Amino acid sequence: MQGGVSENENKNVSTGAAGKSEAAASSEAAAVPEATPAAAAAPAAAERRRPSREGRHAMPEQNPVRRARNFNEVNLGYTPQLARAEADRCLQCKNPTCESGCPVGVHIRDFIGAIIADDMPASIERLKERNALPAVCGRVCPQESQCEAQCILAKRGESVAIGRLERYVADWDNARAVEERYATEPAASTGHKVAVIGSGPASLACAGELATRGHAVEVFESLHTGGGVLAYGIPEFRLPKAILGEEIGALERLGVSFHYNEPVGKITNARELLEEDGFDAVFIGIGAGLPLFLEIGGENLNGVYSSNEFLTRVNFMHASDFPTYDTPIWWGHSVVVVGGGNVAMDAARTAVRMGAGQVTIVYRRTEAEMPARNEEIHHAKEEGVQIHELCGPLAIEGNTGWVTGLRVQHMELGEPDASGRRRPVPIVGSEETIPCDTVIIAVGTKAHKQLVEITDAKLTERGYLATDEDGRTSDPRIFAGGDIVTGAATVILAMGAGKKAANAIDEYLKQD
Ligand SMILES: Cc1cc2nc3c(=O)[nH]c(=O)nc-3n(C[C@H](O)[C@H](O)[C@H](O)COP(=O)(O)OP(=O)(O)OC[C@H]3O[C@@H](n4cnc5c(N)ncnc54)[C@H](O)[C@@H]3O)c2cc1C
Ligand code: SF4
Repeated sequence: MQGGVSENENKNVSTGAAGKSEAAASSEAAAVPEATPAAAAAPAAAERRRPSREGRHAMPEQNPVRRARNFNEVNLGYTPQLARAEADRCLQCKNPTCESGCPVGVHIRDFIGAIIADDMPASIERLKERNALPAVCGRVCPQESQCEAQCILAKRGESVAIGRLERYVADWDNARAVEERYATEPAASTGHKVAVIGSGPASLACAGELATRGHAVEVFESLHTGGGVLAYGIPEFRLPKAILGEEIGALERLGVSFHYNEPVGKITNARELLEEDGFDAVFIGIGAGLPLFLEIGGENLNGVYSSNEFLTRVNFMHASDFPTYDTPIWWGHSVVVVGGGNVAMDAARTAVRMGAGQVTIVYRRTEAEMPARNEEIHHAKEEGVQIHELCGPLAIEGNTGWVTGLRVQHMELGEPDASGRRRPVPIVGSEETIPCDTVIIAVGTKAHKQLVEITDAKLTERGYLATDEDGRTSDPRIFAGGDIVTGAATVILAMGAGKKAANAIDEYLKQD
């Protein structure tokens, strides 16, 4: 829906400041602080400003039937009119609670305030002060459980669509000529050199932060291109690779150099980088990309993939562009994906686009407990993906080496487990087989054992790198952050960890 039509228009839900007395709404509006860009750019208008009472504005999207057959981005982005209308809903709070929900502390009120004041250069400047990858985060961050969950309007209805506005501002910047774009300037050279291992969001955030402080940064990546999961995992229809390319290009312009096809641990290691190659510190951000399997019978049959392999072969090795790219993948007509996170949704939606006739997600709890973002579940269902909830896999069945079905057992929810979610309890005698010719397993990942070839810094019992809160490992010269410390998490948490580690590295280098 466009042109000021709200997401809730048909739901008859009270949204935004609607439902409040005008006096209450205007007292919040009058609380606009003098320092916000909206106020600074147009003080007279700011004094008179009344936030819009419209509901949250929907994101324009590709039609579900059409998009299920292409890999183009599903969300099309706000138009300038929609962005302005959505920004106008923001109360410009004196105490912007939204900001407490952002792991990297983006100045949310101010970047939205600058949209209201029609000052886009100020908006991107405020945004980029805290977030080096806003076009990525605006697309894939779980805002609904972070900043938007803390927005004051969420308590009364619908929060401001902070993520959609973040994406709008970042895309506005990326559409400008390179020389016009917002660019952080590197400080004068400190003479220090830092090696960053891996090029996922943790590493990109760390590299960008260090470069702006004048340190020379070199990134070593084992794959042929940068971005980590953003490149090989998250599909094009959610995060176009050109967007990622823009963000990496901005880091290159900042002076960060990238060495691709260089798996550290195989040709060199952290100690050699420090003691032989002249680096003063090392950041390890290699993610946790080793797929977990179900440990059930039939996992070695033809037609069984880990989600990582399936997504990498389609996204990264262009299996969807066969025969233009001579790297095809076998996929069947009836695909079952096991799991309930974003990864499972990405695999299922990719299978739909590859032409599978029937795609089913099997999840052992209910849809309400699925860790995937609501938007991804909603989009998957719109594209025809079936969800079999309360269903646990028992075995993969096969014939002459190929998958023929997934044997499952139905579940009911019992008492909450350690995660706080209700534990799935098998219902005896409820087994059945779902016929299929492809099974994609998306039940999580763990740290790669290759980590011990990279560094002998201390590991946790679960095989991740042990660090303090700021990313310091047991070796004072080596720092780490992202999934290799926390286990599989989110882009913004990885970026937050990369930034914190950059602060710690900067502090360490200043001790020299
Ligand atoms: C399919 C999928 C969908 C997801 N969707 C979302 C989402 O919608 N929203 C969200 O917030 N999060 C999502 N996530 C999670 C998020 O992408 C990760 O939490 C995040 O990318 C972790 O960042 P990182 O920098 O720690 O590691 P990664 O992104 O894993 O990057 C690590 C990099 O290190 C490289 N590397 C590994 N070993 C070496 C070595 N020895 N030498 C050199 N380089 C090495 C790898 O090749 C990789 O490029 C998703 C994850 C997947 C798999
Ligand atoms: S986004 Fe929400 S919490 Fe943040 S300043 Fe605007 S209205 Fe207030």
